[in-house]
Amino acid sequence: MDKSWAEKNKEIQTLLAKEATFKEAIKKLLEFRGELFQQITWIVEAYPDEAFYQMPFAGADGYHSKTLAYSIWHIFRIEDIVAHEMIAGDEQILFREKYLKKTASPIITSGNELQGEAIAEFSKKLNVKKVYLYAKAVKGSTDSILSQLQYKDLKRKFSDETKQKLIESKCVSEDENAFWLIDYWCGKDVKGLIQMPFSRHWIMHIEAMRRIKNKLCKLARKGADPVAICGLSCNHCFLGEWCGGCRTIYNTCSFATCSEGKICPNVKCCKEKNIDACYACSELETCEKGFYVPSNDGANAAKAQSLYIRKYGKKEFLKTQTRLHEKFEFQKVQEILGQDCKEAFRILEENKQ
Ligand code: SF4
Ligand code: SF4
Repeated sequence: MDKSWAEKNKEIQTLLAKEATFKEAIKKLLEFRGELFQQITWIVEAYPDEAFYQMPFAGADGYHSKTLAYSIWHIFRIEDIVAHEMIAGDEQILFREKYLKKTASPIITSGNELQGEAIAEFSKKLNVKKVYLYAKAVKGSTDSILSQLQYKDLKRKFSDETKQKLIESKCVSEDENAFWLIDYWCGKDVKGLIQMPFSRHWIMHIEAMRRIKNKLCKLARKGADPVAICGLSCNHCFLGEWCGGCRTIYNTCSFATCSEGKICPNVKCCKEKNIDACYACSELETCEKGFYVPSNDGANAAKAQSLYIRKYGKKEFLKTQTRLHEKFEFQKVQEILGQDCKEAFRILEENKQ
């Protein structure tokens, strides 16, 4: 488990155990859930549609064997069922806010019954943007339930009536891979539910989602040109685990995702000019577009690198980058090269073999 997430979760569980620290525990839990949810937001905002039904770890033993879309659906279906059928005793968000139709989901269950290829098939049918909105709505609703809890509520147990209601709701499949969930949830008190569906379950699946997207980026980068359009090197970029590079559909470069339509102006411009990258452009020296905007800290480094590629070629550029990164960390290299374009070019030449 991610070390910092494990520590935060442990601290919350400790605070939850005492009445004097209960309110603080809930406050920290809500903050932590916000932090975890941000990971989902980044993934949904940045990755292409096809990323959500890929299974790069198909057949593996663990949560990472699923898809990104399934993971979001599953985390929040479970939370919706538990929060509303069990704790609040009211209607689930899926039905109340008509998310079944909006998400185009063919199932109302948690999805535990789906195995192997059926997970990918199910994921392809989902409207991921709507599944994300569903997740957001469930999170908001649960956060509000959590905020209203009192310490004494933690010990509340669930009756046979609740169990029957869960069975009748058909929100948990009768398949042996799913049906056990009902006994599992009903064997817990409210505190136990907070500890699993509302926190630990999130951590495990969101960690798995990170593994899935890292692997997808790695696969996308295989065979792709590692020299970015603006002159950066994807092989040396600190975003390597998040991004497939700007020559693939897994371009999640922070600059691209913040640009209009999530399309990097440099990538767009090169496409329009029908050139490989900015190094091949006659306007490079004076260009202030996209990543080269003077207010961007990385502008000088990227432009110097493009000029270097133009003079010495991509192969030598990548070797020079490796030499520089053997001496300094990524941020330091950017800092050294970022001060002045001419000076950056000189430093690059100094590190040429
Ligand atoms: S700034 Fe644009 S060109 Fe440079 S790496 Fe990012 S997406 Fe690619
Ligand atoms: S004008 Fe600027 S952004 Fe466009 S290709 Fe030339 S150097 Fe790149």
